[in-house]
Amino acid sequence: MQKPVIVCLDLEGVLVPEIWINVAIKTGIDELKMTTREMPDYDALMKRRLAILDQHKLTIHDIQSVIDKMGPLEGANDFVAWIRERCQVIILSDTFYQFAQPLMRQLGFPTLFCNQLEIDPAGRIVNFHMRMPNQKKHSVAAFKSLNFFTMAAGDAYNDTAMLGEADAGFFFCPPDHLPKEFPQFPVTKTYGELQARFKEAGNLK
Ligand SMILES: [Mg+2]
Repeated sequence: MQKPVIVCLDLEGVLVPEIWINVAIKTGIDELKMTTREMPDYDALMKRRLAILDQHKLTIHDIQSVIDKMGPLEGANDFVAWIRERCQVIILSDTFYQFAQPLMRQLGFPTLFCNQLEIDPAGRIVNFHMRMPNQKKHSVAAFKSLNFFTMAAGDAYNDTAMLGEADAGFFFCPPDHLPKEFPQFPVTKTYGELQARFKEAGNLK
């Protein structure tokens, strides 16, 4: 008998736009466009981002209202609904619950494993807490140990350990250089292509 299937999806770049880049565009604060490419140390990058928000006196409420207007990527809702009819889906993201909230509402609140922001009563973001290092990879490994067949999709470096851990891992709209570095993961560019991969690898209907 085939094992039950769990699909693990990255959030930003797969179901919703890049949150920080859109916050930068919509607030006009260019420095917030900085990513791990310019500042590889994620901890230092997050501290810098929080300092910038402070400088501009932006609270969690300001940021959430910007994020609320972003909306999921076109077709993301139907894609998630398609998976949920066929197997379990968990979203594994390096973002924070408080940032993701407005987007998760628009996606019908699928299960999300991510991290927390520490917010004071006035709404100022005072700190951030990563639940654990490498949670994407560890989550997939845990689901495998629970005897699920695991499939995963993501678009960036921080997904490659998850894709490698999964029984079947796929890129979704990655930057051009990434598949050259990780040729073992098939590239998909539309939800239709990713559905076809999931169908075949997971023997879904
Ligand atoms: Mg991503």
